[in-house]
Amino acid sequence: MSREYIVPIFIPHAGCKKICVFCNEYSATGIKLKPNIEELNATFYRYIKYFPQNKKTYIAFYGSTFTGMSNIQMQFYLDWAQEKINNSESYGIRFSTSPEEITEEKIEILRKYDINFIEIGVQSFFDDVLKAANRPHDLEDVWNAIELLEKNNIDYGIHLMTGLPKSTYNKDINSAMITTLLKAKSVRIHPTVILKNSTLEKMYKNKEYIPESLDEAVEKVSKMTEIIEASGKKVIRLGICLYGKERENVVVGPYHDSFGDLIRTKIAEDIIIFFEELKVPIKFKSNFIGFKRKNSKLLEKSKIEFHNEEYFIYKNEKFEYSDILNKLVENIEKK
Ligand code: SF4
Repeated sequence: MSREYIVPIFIPHAGCKKICVFCNEYSATGIKLKPNIEELNATFYRYIKYFPQNKKTYIAFYGSTFTGMSNIQMQFYLDWAQEKINNSESYGIRFSTSPEEITEEKIEILRKYDINFIEIGVQSFFDDVLKAANRPHDLEDVWNAIELLEKNNIDYGIHLMTGLPKSTYNKDINSAMITTLLKAKSVRIHPTVILKNSTLEKMYKNKEYIPESLDEAVEKVSKMTEIIEASGKKVIRLGICLYGKERENVVVGPYHDSFGDLIRTKIAEDIIIFFEELKVPIKFKSNFIGFKRKNSKLLEKSKIEFHNEEYFIYKNEKFEYSDILNKLVENIEKK
C-alpha cells in the first residue's frame, strides 16, 4: 500500500454531546481551542512543506465528533478543506465521528464535499461496555450508521478499543470478529490508557477501574489483529496516537511508543511457533525478527526461511498473508 499523506486537524471535543470516560482530547492533543482560518492554514502549509511534491494529500479532522457539530460549524471546516481540494492542494477530506451523528441529513450535506473516508468510533460491539464508557451511542446507532454509510457507498473505517470498563477478553475478541463481517475498509485498535483529567483517572484513583497490563493488551490486540487481517481487512493503526509531551499525560495503562511494533512482533512470534516450516516474503523479515530483535533466537531455531517472492510457501503451496493468519485463527477457535 502506498503511503498516504495526511494533514491532521484537531478540533478537540467539538460536537461531543457526552464525554467518554477514557477521553480527554485536551490531554491527548495539547490543543485547547477550535482552530480558526489562520490556524488551519498555518497547520496545512506546515505539513505540506514536508510532504513530497505530487503526492496525494488528505485533510483529516480528528479529536471531535465531526458530524455532531452544528451544520454551520461543520461546513466552516468542510468549506475550508474543499477550497484546498479545488485549488489542487489536497485530494480529499477525512474525519472521525461518533455513530449516532451519521444521519440522512448529515449525509446530504457531506455529499457536496469530496469526503474520502469516515472513521466511526465504535469501540465495542457490546451495549453494556458502551454504556459504562459513557459513549454517546448504543449498538443500534452503530448498525444504523453502518447501514447508511454502506447504502451511500461511503468508505469507512472502524475504531475499536480494548480493556474498557465492563469489557472482557471475550467481548474484545468478539468485537474483532464482528468487525470482519462489515464492509469497513480499515480498522484502528487501541487499548484503553488512563489520561490525565479523564473520568477514568478518577475511577482508577477510587479503585473502580483497573487498566490492562501492557502484556495483556499486546496478547489481546495481536489476536484481534490476526482475526481482522485474516479476513483481508487491514489494521492501519495500533495503539493510541500521542505525540511529544502529550505522552506525559498518560497516568497509567498499556501505553508504549512502539505499540504497533510490539503487535507485529507478537503476530510473527505466533506464526513462527505455529508453522513447523514456512517460506516468508523478505518484506516481512524485520517484523519476524521483531522489536528489539525479540524473536531472533526463536527464528534461528525455526524452519522459517525468507525469499524474494510476494507470497508465503507452506508444504509446497502458495499462500497470501491473510491465509497464513487464517490458519492461526482457526487454531484460536479450536482452543
Ligand atoms: S472519544 Fe470521541 S465522542 Fe468521546 S469524548 Fe472523545 S472525542 Fe468526544
